[in-house]
Amino acid sequence: MKGECSLKYTCTRNRAESVEAAQAIAQGISASGGLFVPEEMPQISYAELCTMQTMNYTELAQHILAKFLTDFTPEEIRECAEAAYRADKFSGGHPAPVVMLQNGDITQYAMELWHGPTCAFKDMALQILPHLLVKSLAKTTPGKTAVILVATSGDTGKAALEGFKDVDGTRVLVFYPQNGVSPMQKRQMVTQEGSNVGVCAIEGNFDDAQTAVKGIFTDSVMQQTLAQHNMMFSSANSINWGRLLPQIIYYFSAYCQLMNSGEIDYEGEKVNFVVPTGNFGDILAAYYAMKMGLPVNHLICASNENNVLTDFIRTGTYDRRRPFHTTISPSMDILVSSNLERLLFHMTDGNAEKVAGWMRQLNETGSYTVDAETLARIQTVFHAGFCDDASTKQAIRSMKETENYLCDPHSAVAFEVYHQYVAETGDKETPTVVVSTASPYKFAASVLDALGSELYAQDGVNDEFEQVYQLSAMTGVEVPQPIQALAGKSVRFEDVSSVADMRQAVLRLAGLS
Ligand SMILES: *Cc1c(COP(=O)(O)O)cnc(C)c1O
Repeated sequence: MKGECSLKYTCTRNRAESVEAAQAIAQGISASGGLFVPEEMPQISYAELCTMQTMNYTELAQHILAKFLTDFTPEEIRECAEAAYRADKFSGGHPAPVVMLQNGDITQYAMELWHGPTCAFKDMALQILPHLLVKSLAKTTPGKTAVILVATSGDTGKAALEGFKDVDGTRVLVFYPQNGVSPMQKRQMVTQEGSNVGVCAIEGNFDDAQTAVKGIFTDSVMQQTLAQHNMMFSSANSINWGRLLPQIIYYFSAYCQLMNSGEIDYEGEKVNFVVPTGNFGDILAAYYAMKMGLPVNHLICASNENNVLTDFIRTGTYDRRRPFHTTISPSMDILVSSNLERLLFHMTDGNAEKVAGWMRQLNETGSYTVDAETLARIQTVFHAGFCDDASTKQAIRSMKETENYLCDPHSAVAFEVYHQYVAETGDKETPTVVVSTASPYKFAASVLDALGSELYAQDGVNDEFEQVYQLSAMTGVEVPQPIQALAGKSVRFEDVSSVADMRQAVLRLAGLS
Protein backbone atom coordinates (compact mmCIF):
# COMPACT_ATOMS: atom_id res chain seq x y z
CA MET A 1 0.00 0.00 0.00
CA LYS A 2 1.64 3.22 -1.15
CA GLY A 3 -1.06 5.70 -2.13
CA GLU A 4 -1.13 9.16 -0.68
CA CYS A 5 1.46 8.64 2.04
CA SER A 6 4.21 7.87 -0.46
CA LEU A 7 6.75 10.68 -0.87
CA LYS A 8 8.66 10.86 -4.15
CA TYR A 9 11.89 12.59 -5.02
CA THR A 10 12.53 14.52 -8.20
CA CYS A 11 15.62 16.08 -9.74
CA THR A 12 16.61 19.74 -9.46
CA ARG A 13 17.34 19.79 -13.19
CA ASN A 14 14.65 17.51 -14.57
CA ARG A 15 11.13 17.27 -13.15
CA ALA A 16 10.46 14.18 -15.24
CA GLU A 17 12.52 12.11 -12.80
CA SER A 18 10.54 10.74 -9.89
CA VAL A 19 11.92 8.06 -7.58
CA GLU A 20 11.35 6.72 -4.10
CA ALA A 21 13.69 7.51 -1.22
CA ALA A 22 15.62 4.23 -1.47
CA GLN A 23 16.38 4.90 -5.13
CA ALA A 24 17.47 8.48 -4.42
CA ILE A 25 19.78 7.32 -1.62
CA ALA A 26 21.20 4.36 -3.55
CA GLN A 27 21.90 6.50 -6.61
CA GLY A 28 23.33 9.56 -4.82
CA ILE A 29 23.16 11.86 -7.82
CA SER A 30 20.33 11.88 -10.37
CA ALA A 31 20.62 10.59 -13.92
CA SER A 32 20.58 14.15 -15.31
CA GLY A 33 23.40 15.26 -13.02
CA GLY A 34 21.10 17.18 -10.69
CA LEU A 35 20.28 16.52 -7.04
CA PHE A 36 17.31 14.67 -5.60
CA VAL A 37 14.78 16.76 -3.69
CA PRO A 38 11.48 15.78 -2.05
CA GLU A 39 8.48 16.57 -4.28
CA GLU A 40 6.52 17.76 -1.25
CA MET A 41 7.55 18.86 2.21
CA PRO A 42 6.09 16.82 5.08
CA GLN A 43 4.49 19.11 7.67
CA ILE A 44 4.82 19.21 11.44
CA SER A 45 2.23 21.30 13.30
CA TYR A 46 2.99 23.14 16.52
CA ALA A 47 0.83 20.65 18.40
CA GLU A 48 2.89 17.81 16.95
CA LEU A 49 6.10 19.65 17.82
CA CYS A 50 4.92 19.78 21.43
CA THR A 51 4.45 16.00 21.45
CA MET A 52 8.02 15.64 20.16
CA GLN A 53 9.36 17.48 23.21
CA THR A 54 9.46 14.34 25.32
CA MET A 55 11.15 12.12 22.72
CA ASN A 56 14.79 11.16 23.08
CA TYR A 57 17.06 11.75 20.07
CA THR A 58 16.57 8.27 18.60
CA GLU A 59 12.79 8.57 18.83
CA LEU A 60 12.87 12.03 17.34
CA ALA A 61 15.02 10.70 14.50
CA GLN A 62 12.52 7.92 13.78
CA HIS A 63 9.64 10.37 13.84
CA ILE A 64 11.23 12.66 11.25
CA LEU A 65 12.81 9.99 9.06
CA ALA A 66 9.47 8.18 8.75
CA LYS A 67 7.95 11.23 7.08
CA PHE A 68 10.57 11.17 4.33
CA LEU A 69 11.34 7.45 3.97
CA THR A 70 7.86 6.29 3.04
CA ASP A 71 9.24 3.21 1.27
CA PHE A 72 10.98 2.00 4.46
CA THR A 73 9.18 0.01 7.14
CA PRO A 74 8.99 1.45 10.68
CA GLU A 75 11.19 -1.46 11.73
CA GLU A 76 13.89 -0.56 9.18
CA ILE A 77 13.82 3.07 10.28
CA ARG A 78 14.09 2.05 13.92
CA GLU A 79 17.12 -0.15 13.17
CA CYS A 80 18.87 2.70 11.35
CA ALA A 81 18.17 5.29 14.05
CA GLU A 82 19.17 3.01 16.90
CA ALA A 83 22.39 1.90 15.21
CA ALA A 84 23.37 5.52 14.57
CA TYR A 85 22.42 7.45 17.68
CA ARG A 86 23.02 5.01 20.51
CA ALA A 87 23.92 7.04 23.56
CA ASP A 88 27.28 5.27 23.99
CA LYS A 89 28.49 6.61 20.62
CA PHE A 90 28.24 10.21 21.79
CA SER A 91 30.22 11.50 24.73
CA GLY A 92 27.74 12.82 27.26
CA GLY A 93 24.99 10.69 25.71
CA HIS A 94 23.11 13.38 23.73
CA PRO A 95 24.13 13.68 20.07
CA ALA A 96 23.19 17.37 19.83
CA PRO A 97 23.19 19.14 23.21
CA VAL A 98 22.24 22.82 23.29
CA VAL A 99 24.18 24.90 25.82
CA MET A 100 23.34 28.43 26.93
CA LEU A 101 25.96 31.19 26.73
CA GLN A 102 25.38 34.57 28.30
CA ASN A 103 27.32 37.63 27.19
CA GLY A 104 26.02 40.90 28.61
CA ASP A 105 22.55 41.50 27.23
CA ILE A 106 22.94 38.88 24.50
CA THR A 107 21.98 35.29 25.21
CA GLN A 108 23.07 32.80 22.63
CA TYR A 109 22.82 29.07 22.49
CA ALA A 110 25.39 26.71 21.03
CA MET A 111 24.23 23.42 19.59
CA GLU A 112 27.26 21.14 19.88
CA LEU A 113 27.27 18.60 17.07
CA TRP A 114 30.72 17.20 17.73
CA HIS A 115 30.29 14.64 20.49
CA GLY A 116 30.37 11.70 18.07
CA PRO A 117 33.18 9.30 17.10
CA THR A 118 35.11 11.74 14.85
CA CYS A 119 34.48 14.92 16.86
CA ALA A 120 32.78 16.85 14.02
CA PHE A 121 29.17 17.32 12.99
CA LYS A 122 29.56 15.09 9.94
CA ASP A 123 29.01 12.17 12.33
CA MET A 124 25.39 13.25 12.72
CA ALA A 125 24.70 12.15 9.16
CA LEU A 126 27.46 9.65 8.51
CA GLN A 127 26.69 7.45 11.49
CA ILE A 128 23.28 6.73 9.94
CA LEU A 129 23.93 6.99 6.20
CA PRO A 130 25.59 3.55 5.85
CA HIS A 131 22.52 1.92 7.39
CA LEU A 132 20.14 3.89 5.18
CA LEU A 133 22.28 3.08 2.17
CA VAL A 134 22.59 -0.64 2.80
CA LYS A 135 18.81 -0.89 3.20
CA SER A 136 18.27 1.26 0.09
CA LEU A 137 20.60 -0.96 -1.96
CA ALA A 138 18.84 -4.09 -0.76
CA LYS A 139 15.57 -2.62 -2.10
CA THR A 140 16.94 -1.38 -5.43
CA THR A 141 19.98 -3.43 -6.49
CA PRO A 142 20.27 -6.43 -4.21
CA GLY A 143 23.62 -8.20 -4.12
CA LYS A 144 25.73 -5.30 -5.39
CA THR A 145 28.66 -3.83 -3.50
CA ALA A 146 28.47 -0.06 -3.18
CA VAL A 147 31.74 1.79 -3.75
CA ILE A 148 31.41 5.02 -1.82
CA LEU A 149 33.54 7.78 -3.33
CA VAL A 150 34.16 10.72 -1.04
CA ALA A 151 35.81 14.04 -1.72
CA THR A 152 36.50 15.69 1.60
CA SER A 153 37.49 19.10 2.84
CA GLY A 154 38.57 17.36 6.04
CA ASP A 155 35.76 16.17 8.27
CA THR A 156 33.53 14.23 5.88
CA GLY A 157 36.33 11.85 4.99
CA LYS A 158 36.96 10.65 8.49
CA ALA A 159 33.27 10.55 9.37
CA ALA A 160 32.53 8.47 6.25
CA LEU A 161 35.41 6.08 6.98
CA GLU A 162 34.22 5.64 10.53
CA GLY A 163 30.57 5.23 9.50
CA PHE A 164 31.19 2.71 6.72
CA LYS A 165 34.11 0.73 8.14
CA ASP A 166 33.38 -2.99 7.97
CA VAL A 167 29.76 -2.44 6.88
CA ASP A 168 28.94 -5.43 4.65
CA GLY A 169 28.27 -4.67 0.99
CA THR A 170 30.21 -1.38 0.99
CA ARG A 171 33.68 -0.03 0.25
CA VAL A 172 34.63 3.53 1.04
CA LEU A 173 37.34 5.50 -0.79
CA VAL A 174 38.30 8.96 0.45
CA PHE A 175 40.19 11.71 -1.40
CA TYR A 176 41.45 14.73 0.52
CA PRO A 177 43.39 17.84 -0.59
CA GLN A 178 47.01 17.20 0.31
CA ASN A 179 47.56 20.64 1.85
CA GLY A 180 44.00 21.51 2.72
CA VAL A 181 43.27 19.64 5.96
CA SER A 182 44.51 20.06 9.53
CA PRO A 183 47.25 17.72 10.84
CA MET A 184 44.73 16.10 13.19
CA GLN A 185 42.20 15.60 10.38
CA LYS A 186 44.92 13.98 8.27
CA ARG A 187 46.02 11.79 11.18
CA GLN A 188 42.44 10.64 11.70
CA MET A 189 42.14 9.54 8.06
CA VAL A 190 45.52 7.95 7.36
CA THR A 191 45.27 5.76 10.46
CA GLN A 192 41.74 4.52 9.63
CA GLU A 193 41.06 0.90 10.49
CA GLY A 194 38.72 -1.45 8.64
CA SER A 195 38.91 -3.97 5.81
CA ASN A 196 36.85 -2.02 3.25
CA VAL A 197 38.47 1.43 3.43
CA GLY A 198 40.93 3.40 1.25
CA VAL A 199 42.40 6.90 1.62
CA CYS A 200 44.38 8.98 -0.90
CA ALA A 201 45.72 12.56 -0.89
CA ILE A 202 45.10 14.73 -3.97
CA GLU A 203 47.42 17.34 -5.46
CA GLY A 204 44.78 20.04 -5.56
CA ASN A 205 42.14 21.72 -3.42
CA PHE A 206 38.73 20.45 -2.29
CA ASP A 207 36.93 21.78 -5.36
CA ASP A 208 39.38 19.90 -7.61
CA ALA A 209 38.72 16.71 -5.67
CA GLN A 210 34.94 17.19 -5.66
CA THR A 211 34.79 17.98 -9.38
CA ALA A 212 36.91 14.94 -10.19
CA VAL A 213 34.75 12.67 -8.00
CA LYS A 214 31.60 13.93 -9.73
CA GLY A 215 33.28 13.21 -13.08
CA ILE A 216 34.20 9.66 -12.06
CA PHE A 217 30.63 8.98 -10.90
CA THR A 218 29.18 9.75 -14.31
CA ASP A 219 32.04 8.19 -16.33
CA SER A 220 30.48 5.31 -18.27
CA VAL A 221 33.76 3.42 -18.67
CA MET A 222 34.32 3.49 -14.92
CA GLN A 223 30.72 2.47 -14.30
CA GLN A 224 31.07 -0.51 -16.64
CA THR A 225 34.30 -1.61 -15.01
CA LEU A 226 32.60 -1.63 -11.64
CA ALA A 227 29.50 -3.37 -13.01
CA GLN A 228 31.69 -6.22 -14.29
CA HIS A 229 32.70 -6.82 -10.68
CA ASN A 230 29.14 -6.53 -9.36
CA MET A 231 29.91 -3.13 -7.89
CA MET A 232 28.37 0.31 -8.30
CA PHE A 233 29.31 3.84 -7.27
CA SER A 234 27.48 5.64 -4.55
CA SER A 235 28.05 8.88 -2.72
CA ALA A 236 28.39 9.91 0.89
CA ASN A 237 28.91 13.59 0.07
CA SER A 238 26.14 15.95 1.05
CA ILE A 239 24.77 15.75 -2.48
CA ASN A 240 23.28 12.42 -1.28
CA TRP A 241 19.79 12.82 0.13
CA GLY A 242 20.65 10.28 2.81
CA ARG A 243 23.29 12.70 4.10
CA LEU A 244 21.04 15.70 4.21
CA LEU A 245 17.93 14.13 5.70
CA PRO A 246 19.45 13.15 9.09
CA GLN A 247 20.62 16.74 9.52
CA ILE A 248 17.03 17.98 9.68
CA ILE A 249 16.56 16.06 12.93
CA TYR A 250 18.83 18.16 15.11
CA TYR A 251 17.13 21.44 14.25
CA PHE A 252 13.93 19.99 15.70
CA SER A 253 15.92 18.64 18.61
CA ALA A 254 17.35 22.12 19.30
CA TYR A 255 13.89 23.65 19.37
CA CYS A 256 12.55 20.90 21.64
CA GLN A 257 15.48 21.42 24.01
CA LEU A 258 14.74 25.16 24.13
CA MET A 259 11.05 24.41 24.83
CA ASN A 260 12.01 21.95 27.56
CA SER A 261 14.29 24.40 29.31
CA GLY A 262 11.68 27.16 29.21
CA GLU A 263 13.57 29.35 26.73
CA ILE A 264 10.65 29.45 24.30
CA ASP A 265 8.27 31.98 25.82
CA TYR A 266 5.16 31.61 23.70
CA GLU A 267 3.61 29.23 21.19
CA GLY A 268 5.33 29.45 17.85
CA GLU A 269 8.15 31.74 19.01
CA LYS A 270 10.70 31.87 16.24
CA VAL A 271 14.43 31.22 16.58
CA ASN A 272 17.47 32.06 14.46
CA PHE A 273 20.07 29.51 13.49
CA VAL A 274 23.61 30.58 12.61
CA VAL A 275 25.35 27.93 10.56
CA PRO A 276 29.04 27.82 9.61
CA THR A 277 28.72 26.91 5.97
CA GLY A 278 30.75 25.28 3.23
CA ASN A 279 28.82 23.00 0.91
CA PHE A 280 25.49 24.47 2.08
CA GLY A 281 24.28 21.11 3.43
CA ASP A 282 23.93 21.92 7.11
CA ILE A 283 22.11 25.21 6.58
CA LEU A 284 19.89 23.68 3.88
CA ALA A 285 18.75 21.08 6.42
CA ALA A 286 17.73 24.00 8.66
CA TYR A 287 15.73 25.41 5.75
CA TYR A 288 13.97 22.06 5.30
CA ALA A 289 13.13 22.04 9.01
CA MET A 290 11.63 25.50 8.58
CA LYS A 291 9.64 24.41 5.51
CA MET A 292 8.27 21.55 7.60
CA GLY A 293 6.93 24.01 10.12
CA LEU A 294 9.73 24.64 12.62
CA PRO A 295 9.34 28.26 13.83
CA VAL A 296 12.39 29.96 12.30
CA ASN A 297 13.04 33.69 11.93
CA HIS A 298 16.34 33.88 10.05
CA LEU A 299 18.94 31.42 8.87
CA ILE A 300 22.31 33.09 9.06
CA CYS A 301 24.92 31.72 6.68
CA ALA A 302 28.44 32.17 8.07
CA SER A 303 31.43 31.86 5.74
CA ASN A 304 35.17 32.29 6.07
CA GLU A 305 37.22 34.27 3.55
CA ASN A 306 35.91 31.99 0.81
CA ASN A 307 32.82 34.17 0.91
CA VAL A 308 31.13 33.20 -2.33
CA LEU A 309 27.85 32.51 -0.47
CA THR A 310 27.93 35.84 1.38
CA ASP A 311 28.12 37.63 -1.94
CA PHE A 312 25.44 35.44 -3.46
CA ILE A 313 22.93 35.94 -0.66
CA ARG A 314 23.59 39.68 -0.65
CA THR A 315 23.59 40.30 -4.42
CA GLY A 316 22.09 37.32 -6.27
CA THR A 317 25.30 36.74 -8.21
CA TYR A 318 27.18 33.51 -7.61
CA ASP A 319 30.73 33.95 -8.86
CA ARG A 320 33.30 31.28 -8.24
CA ARG A 321 35.97 33.13 -10.26
CA ARG A 322 37.93 34.34 -7.27
CA PRO A 323 41.04 33.29 -5.37
CA PHE A 324 40.72 30.14 -3.29
CA HIS A 325 41.85 30.80 0.29
CA THR A 326 43.28 28.12 2.54
CA THR A 327 41.99 29.14 5.98
CA ILE A 328 42.03 27.92 9.58
CA SER A 329 38.44 26.70 9.06
CA PRO A 330 39.34 24.29 6.23
CA SER A 331 36.02 22.42 6.16
CA MET A 332 34.50 25.62 4.81
CA ASP A 333 37.16 26.25 2.14
CA ILE A 334 34.74 25.73 -0.72
CA LEU A 335 33.90 27.84 -3.76
CA VAL A 336 31.24 25.60 -5.30
CA SER A 337 28.57 24.88 -2.71
CA SER A 338 26.74 21.92 -4.23
CA ASN A 339 23.62 22.04 -2.09
CA LEU A 340 22.77 25.59 -3.08
CA GLU A 341 21.27 24.00 -6.19
CA ARG A 342 18.56 22.47 -4.00
CA LEU A 343 17.72 25.84 -2.46
CA LEU A 344 17.43 27.39 -5.93
CA PHE A 345 14.99 24.67 -6.88
CA HIS A 346 12.75 25.35 -3.89
CA MET A 347 13.04 29.13 -4.19
CA THR A 348 11.84 29.00 -7.80
CA ASP A 349 8.89 26.72 -6.95
CA GLY A 350 10.66 23.84 -8.61
CA ASN A 351 11.68 25.48 -11.87
CA ALA A 352 14.13 22.81 -13.05
CA GLU A 353 14.78 24.54 -16.40
CA LYS A 354 15.90 27.68 -14.62
CA VAL A 355 18.09 25.75 -12.18
CA ALA A 356 19.63 23.67 -14.96
CA GLY A 357 20.38 26.91 -16.85
CA TRP A 358 22.14 28.50 -13.87
CA MET A 359 24.14 25.34 -13.23
CA ARG A 360 25.16 25.23 -16.90
CA GLN A 361 26.29 28.86 -16.69
CA LEU A 362 28.24 28.12 -13.53
CA ASN A 363 29.92 25.25 -15.27
CA GLU A 364 30.69 27.12 -18.47
CA THR A 365 31.45 30.64 -17.28
CA GLY A 366 32.01 30.27 -13.52
CA SER A 367 29.09 32.50 -12.57
CA TYR A 368 25.32 33.11 -12.73
CA THR A 369 22.84 35.67 -11.45
CA VAL A 370 19.39 34.77 -10.20
CA ASP A 371 16.34 36.92 -11.02
CA ALA A 372 15.15 39.61 -8.61
CA GLU A 373 12.15 37.61 -7.37
CA THR A 374 14.26 34.58 -6.48
CA LEU A 375 16.78 36.79 -4.70
CA ALA A 376 14.03 38.54 -2.74
CA ARG A 377 12.65 35.18 -1.61
CA ILE A 378 16.08 34.01 -0.52
CA GLN A 379 16.68 37.22 1.41
CA THR A 380 13.46 36.93 3.41
CA VAL A 381 14.92 33.82 5.05
CA PHE A 382 18.69 34.02 4.74
CA HIS A 383 21.22 36.50 6.07
CA ALA A 384 24.90 36.12 5.32
CA GLY A 385 28.23 37.26 6.65
CA PHE A 386 31.85 36.19 6.64
CA CYS A 387 35.07 36.74 8.52
CA ASP A 388 38.75 36.29 7.79
CA ASP A 389 41.25 34.27 9.84
CA ALA A 390 42.27 37.24 12.00
CA SER A 391 38.65 37.83 13.13
CA THR A 392 38.12 34.11 13.56
CA LYS A 393 41.03 33.97 16.00
CA GLN A 394 39.75 37.08 17.72
CA ALA A 395 36.37 35.36 18.12
CA ILE A 396 37.97 32.23 19.61
CA ARG A 397 39.79 34.44 22.11
CA SER A 398 36.78 36.51 23.02
CA MET A 399 34.49 33.47 23.40
CA LYS A 400 37.05 32.06 25.83
CA GLU A 401 37.55 35.31 27.72
CA THR A 402 33.98 36.58 27.96
CA GLU A 403 31.98 33.35 28.12
CA ASN A 404 34.63 30.84 29.13
CA TYR A 405 33.66 28.81 26.09
CA LEU A 406 36.29 27.01 24.04
CA CYS A 407 35.29 26.78 20.38
CA ASP A 408 36.89 25.56 17.18
CA PRO A 409 37.58 27.90 14.23
CA HIS A 410 34.45 26.86 12.25
CA SER A 411 32.16 27.56 15.17
CA ALA A 412 34.08 30.78 15.84
CA VAL A 413 33.22 32.00 12.34
CA ALA A 414 29.56 31.47 13.21
CA PHE A 415 29.82 33.30 16.56
CA GLU A 416 31.54 36.21 14.84
CA VAL A 417 28.96 36.39 12.06
CA TYR A 418 26.17 36.30 14.64
CA HIS A 419 27.68 39.39 16.27
CA GLN A 420 27.76 41.08 12.87
CA TYR A 421 24.12 40.10 12.35
CA VAL A 422 23.08 41.64 15.68
CA ALA A 423 25.01 44.82 14.84
CA GLU A 424 23.48 45.05 11.36
CA THR A 425 19.88 44.20 12.20
CA GLY A 426 19.53 45.08 15.87
CA ASP A 427 17.84 41.70 16.36
CA LYS A 428 18.93 40.81 19.89
CA GLU A 429 15.55 39.42 20.91
CA THR A 430 15.18 36.36 18.73
CA PRO A 431 16.60 33.34 20.57
CA THR A 432 19.57 32.31 18.47
CA VAL A 433 21.23 28.94 18.17
CA VAL A 434 24.78 28.96 16.85
CA VAL A 435 25.60 25.61 15.32
CA SER A 436 28.94 24.42 16.70
CA THR A 437 30.38 21.96 14.23
CA ALA A 438 33.72 20.66 15.49
CA SER A 439 35.66 19.96 18.66
CA PRO A 440 38.40 22.55 19.22
CA TYR A 441 40.80 19.63 19.55
CA LYS A 442 40.53 18.85 15.85
CA PHE A 443 42.14 22.23 15.23
CA ALA A 444 44.35 22.58 18.28
CA ALA A 445 47.18 24.50 16.56
CA SER A 446 44.87 27.28 15.36
CA VAL A 447 43.04 27.45 18.67
CA LEU A 448 46.31 27.64 20.63
CA ASP A 449 47.53 30.33 18.29
CA ALA A 450 44.27 32.26 18.74
CA LEU A 451 44.57 32.03 22.51
CA GLY A 452 48.09 33.43 22.30
CA SER A 453 49.83 30.34 23.58
CA GLU A 454 53.55 30.90 23.89
CA LEU A 455 54.26 27.23 23.53
CA TYR A 456 52.62 27.27 20.11
CA ALA A 457 55.13 29.86 18.97
CA GLN A 458 58.16 27.86 20.15
CA ASP A 459 60.12 25.94 17.56
CA GLY A 460 59.75 22.21 17.63
CA VAL A 461 56.38 22.11 19.33
CA ASN A 462 54.37 21.22 16.29
CA ASP A 463 53.29 17.67 16.94
CA GLU A 464 49.49 17.60 16.83
CA PHE A 465 49.28 15.60 20.05
CA GLU A 466 51.55 17.93 21.98
CA GLN A 467 49.31 20.75 20.84
CA VAL A 468 46.21 18.93 22.01
CA TYR A 469 47.61 18.35 25.50
CA GLN A 470 48.93 21.90 25.66
CA LEU A 471 45.45 23.22 24.85
CA SER A 472 43.90 20.98 27.45
CA ALA A 473 46.40 22.07 30.09
CA MET A 474 45.71 25.70 29.25
CA THR A 475 41.92 25.51 29.32
CA GLY A 476 41.11 22.58 31.56
CA VAL A 477 38.81 21.20 28.84
CA GLU A 478 39.11 17.44 28.46
CA VAL A 479 40.52 15.94 25.25
CA PRO A 480 37.84 13.81 23.53
CA GLN A 481 38.52 10.10 23.80
CA PRO A 482 38.61 9.42 20.01
CA ILE A 483 41.44 11.95 19.65
CA GLN A 484 43.37 10.50 22.60
CA ALA A 485 43.09 7.08 20.99
CA LEU A 486 44.72 8.20 17.71
CA ALA A 487 48.14 8.57 19.32
CA GLY A 488 48.62 4.81 19.40
CA LYS A 489 47.55 4.08 15.81
CA SER A 490 49.91 3.49 12.90
CA VAL A 491 49.69 5.15 9.47
CA ARG A 492 48.04 2.88 6.88
CA PHE A 493 47.61 5.20 3.87
CA GLU A 494 50.37 7.30 2.30
CA ASP A 495 49.21 7.52 -1.35
CA VAL A 496 49.22 10.87 -3.15
CA SER A 497 47.58 11.20 -6.58
CA SER A 498 47.30 13.97 -9.16
CA VAL A 499 43.74 14.90 -10.12
CA ALA A 500 44.39 13.42 -13.56
CA ASP A 501 45.31 10.03 -12.07
CA MET A 502 42.30 9.74 -9.76
CA ARG A 503 40.57 7.14 -11.94
CA GLN A 504 43.51 4.77 -11.53
CA ALA A 505 43.56 5.49 -7.81
CA VAL A 506 39.88 4.57 -7.56
CA LEU A 507 40.43 1.28 -9.36
CA ARG A 508 43.47 0.49 -7.22
CA LEU A 509 41.73 1.27 -3.93
CA ALA A 510 38.63 -0.67 -4.99
CA GLY A 511 40.90 -3.65 -5.60
CA LEU A 512 40.19 -3.71 -9.36
CA SER A 513 43.72 -3.13 -10.69
C1 LIG B 1 31.52 20.30 6.81
C2 LIG B 1 31.73 21.30 7.88
C3 LIG B 1 31.11 22.56 7.83
C4 LIG B 1 30.28 23.01 6.65
O1 LIG B 1 29.08 22.29 6.51
P1 LIG B 1 28.33 22.26 5.10
O2 LIG B 1 27.22 21.32 5.28
O3 LIG B 1 29.35 21.78 4.10
O4 LIG B 1 27.91 23.66 4.81
C5 LIG B 1 31.30 23.42 8.90
N1 LIG B 1 32.07 23.06 9.95
C6 LIG B 1 32.68 21.87 10.03
C7 LIG B 1 33.53 21.55 11.21
C8 LIG B 1 32.51 20.94 9.01
O5 LIG B 1 33.12 19.75 9.10
